[in-house]
Amino acid sequence: MGDIPVFPQLHRPEEARLNIIIVGAGLGGLGAAISLLLAGHNVKIYESATRIDEIGAGIQVLPNASKILTHWGLHEKLSAHSCSPTQCNLINWHGEPLTSMSFTDASQAYGSPFWDFHRSDLHRVLYERVLELGGTVEVKSRVVDCIVDATAGSATVELASGAKASADLVIGADGIRSKMREVLVGHPVPPTPTGDLAYRLLLDTKALMGDADLRAFVEQEQVTYWMGPGIHVVVYLIRNGGLLNMVLLVPDDMPEGATTMEGDIEEMKALFKGWDPRIGKLLSLCKEVQKWKLCIQHELAQWTHPQGHFTLLGDAVHATLPYLASGAGMSLEDGCILGLCLSSPRLPASRKPSGAELNYALQKYEECRKPRTSRIVARGSHQGYLYHLDDGPEQVLRDQELKRKPTREGE
Ligand code: FAD
Repeated sequence: MGDIPVFPQLHRPEEARLNIIIVGAGLGGLGAAISLLLAGHNVKIYESATRIDEIGAGIQVLPNASKILTHWGLHEKLSAHSCSPTQCNLINWHGEPLTSMSFTDASQAYGSPFWDFHRSDLHRVLYERVLELGGTVEVKSRVVDCIVDATAGSATVELASGAKASADLVIGADGIRSKMREVLVGHPVPPTPTGDLAYRLLLDTKALMGDADLRAFVEQEQVTYWMGPGIHVVVYLIRNGGLLNMVLLVPDDMPEGATTMEGDIEEMKALFKGWDPRIGKLLSLCKEVQKWKLCIQHELAQWTHPQGHFTLLGDAVHATLPYLASGAGMSLEDGCILGLCLSSPRLPASRKPSGAELNYALQKYEECRKPRTSRIVARGSHQGYLYHLDDGPEQVLRDQELKRKPTREGE
């Protein structure tokens, strides 16, 4: 796994650089900034939040995404914050093991690790890399509009303050409730609720050590999934084993319009009556919990403005259910491909690309990314169907299939 090259930062003369504005400093926006800075362009990010941070709890990074992060020169820094699970276990809701998959073998096969992080650790490392490469980030800067002027060869963003800024390229990386998506399409495009919500918990692993059943979750660096009717649960370690990240995916009972809210612990516990007793034990350690409505973004006809100079990436254009642990990975892939399209030998090295050259690169980016991300969105929803099968013949068949698959760990 030591042979993944670090991409060097290309040096383009100032007059040959594109000036790029990214809207949103989430994982997708920061990743795109790194990739475009490495491609030799100038990048400025506008972020609406008052400070640079990432909310939420844990995040799984699969080998496709860890490989990109390594190309961006982040392997060493991220390794210091990550857990590297060796195995993934699937269990039915009564606690019966169904199958396991060796992440150690899969990491070898893909040539890059599985990493689990606290989101804010991953986010901070990306942010620091953006600054190191010469990018700038302005907080408290909500972008409310973007107007393309193909004749001038630019796009101009307008901030809530009324200030305006122009660039050769504007990238909307403003997440699932993207304003830039609405602006690009020309009318509101709200994401589609899926009927599921996520309770997200972080448990201090010290509190698990006194119980033999729970201690195993700390001593073995593994990802564990329980599957039951309409519900599944995921746990994995983060922060070098200091925290257990627990996500409970259950039917959505949030009021219309709500996106996140404080969860009721007793209500949450009541959903798990009759489940593997280890879940009840873990939930008894919970002191507070947030719940998140889960939505997806169906494929848009176009990611890029018809006149060019303005495109989208990340959750803004392909938010998926988190059931394949791939939403952030897709956002990082978007940024990586966009950077490669804008560093390709097709672009002139000594002058700024023309509007046509830039827009050709954006078209290639969209052509490359759209089929894969649409497949991931659809596959994520199908995974939910498989995880949440009711008790009955289909569930029995699923579990038989899973048990039939060889358990690779320890073979
Ligand atoms: P966001 O992270 O939403 O970032 C958007 C940024 O834009 C924010 O900083 C926001 O403040 C800013 N912004 C918004 N509007 C404006 C504006 N008008 N002007 C300026 N700034 C603005 N993915 C994985 O790969 N692995 C996982 O294990 C995983 N687990 C998940 C678990 C759950 C419960 C959920 C809900 C998601 C999970 N995901 C996972 C998905 C992942 O979190 C997202 O796909 C990823 O964070 C999307 O990044 P983004 O940068 O596109 O959007």
